[in-house]
Amino acid sequence: MDNSKVSIHRTKKFGHGVYADKAIHKGEVIAVFDGPIYDDDFEPWTDDMFNHAIQIGPKLWRDSKGIARLLNHSCEPNCGIKGLNRVVAMREIKPGEQVTWDYEMTEKNKYWKMKCKCGSEICRGQIGHYKNMPASIRKKYTGYISDWITKK
Ligand SMILES: [Zn+2]
Repeated sequence: MDNSKVSIHRTKKFGHGVYADKAIHKGEVIAVFDGPIYDDDFEPWTDDMFNHAIQIGPKLWRDSKGIARLLNHSCEPNCGIKGLNRVVAMREIKPGEQVTWDYEMTEKNKYWKMKCKCGSEICRGQIGHYKNMPASIRKKYTGYISDWITKK
């Protein structure tokens, strides 16, 4: 399910990241959260799961078997979420660019937050719950926010 035009490299600041080896077109699927599904009551929730699984429902999370769990967050990302679990390019991505998405596109978990140092001029400083995402950013991401948040 992983796009063949990306590969994993070490980044200077954030551990591993996923980078484009070749140009990627708007609409291409980069990776999919196609792994195990966990609910609220699952035991034990590990730090690794907590940090890498995405929210797909009010009390449901899903991990990936591939590179989706290694994609970094950016407050100025080149990818978004289609459906519940597909990470898709929102614009053309040039070779050498890091592939990123905005983690608030899926999360409505009051227990999860993360300090962000993505370096973008529009970095929000801390990310977590979707309710904190500014209206202008939501508008920019139209069509790329998880279905479980936008489709009631
Ligand atoms: Zn940021």
